[in-house]
Amino acid sequence: MTGIDDLPIREELRGKTPYGAPQLDVPVQLNTNENPYELPEELVRRIAERVADAARTLNRYPDRDAVELRTELAAYLTRTGKHPVATENVWAANGSNEIIQQLLQTFGGPGRTAIGFEPSYSMHALISRGTGTGWISGPRREDFRVDVEAAEQAIAAHAPDVVFITSPNNPTGTAVEAETVLALYEAAQAAKPSLVIIDEAYVEFSHRDSLLPLIEGRPNLVVSRTMSKAFGAAGLRLGYLAAHPAVVDAVQLVRLPYHLSAVTQATALAALEHTDTLLGYVEQLKAERDRLVAELRAIGYEVTESDANFIQFGKFEDAHTAWQKILDQGVLVRDNGVPGWLRVTAGTPAENDAFLEAVRALKKEQQ
Ligand code: PMP
Repeated sequence: MTGIDDLPIREELRGKTPYGAPQLDVPVQLNTNENPYELPEELVRRIAERVADAARTLNRYPDRDAVELRTELAAYLTRTGKHPVATENVWAANGSNEIIQQLLQTFGGPGRTAIGFEPSYSMHALISRGTGTGWISGPRREDFRVDVEAAEQAIAAHAPDVVFITSPNNPTGTAVEAETVLALYEAAQAAKPSLVIIDEAYVEFSHRDSLLPLIEGRPNLVVSRTMSKAFGAAGLRLGYLAAHPAVVDAVQLVRLPYHLSAVTQATALAALEHTDTLLGYVEQLKAERDRLVAELRAIGYEVTESDANFIQFGKFEDAHTAWQKILDQGVLVRDNGVPGWLRVTAGTPAENDAFLEAVRALKKEQQ
């Protein structure tokens, strides 16, 4: 039987596995950091209206520059990010994964490298590989915060073209201080200069403000965001970035023409009309996240400080066996391959109760 390796694929893809969070059909799914709340009916109706409008002109290509959508995203960032952002500062794509891909196609690529501080979001390394960008795995401290000195040294030693800083970090939940970003930005400019990407996919759940104001006067700094988490719209596939307008101009060189469909643009615009309702769910999820942290600690687990809608908890002698035992009780969490640790997404109060019951039982069994 013909397999992948019998095909004339690129050498660096041989023997590799695709991104694959298991999509299992279990009652409680707390494994992919999704928002557990379905969109409110009022918004569903508004999406239907706006999509119907868009459908009438589907014979035409969509607005290639997505100007109306970028203007609304800029208004959202200005309102919540404590920093004025204009349409020219914003670019949008199919999920922040595509934003990252476009940035790597523009600033990375063959003969160039990117660095991230691991454990972190595994797609940074995978998209690097997919775009022919060399990957450098940078260090992190025992407590999962960025080790500033070691990171500065790694940047100086490797002079990467792209630096990833994930705040809050996935899978650990750790937020990054502005001073750390500034130190790494300076190191990256001195070494190359290189593009620094702050991945803020989870920032709406943070106790801290967005790092967005740091883009001011720093043309090589990009903040990447998504509607998949706080807006509860993972199925929409809408990510965006904020940066100097020159960065937005630069990604035009690699973006596919009409990459963002008229249906996507219409749906995202409808969701942005309901920002306040959707951000209300964020407040509920933050409260549930804090409850999970407190209860996990009370049960006797270690928990990494979380600024996201998920929590890293442990420690387990064998995290994969623990993952399976939690799954056997109908609760799917995530084994990210961080030795000793698992990750759970904050769900609805009922889902979280089911999770707590499962990990309480596991703790008893292990004592
Ligand atoms: N960045 C981080 C840190 C993430 O965890 C995720 C999703 N898990 C993404 C980016 C990508 O999200 P999306 O493509 O849905 O915007």
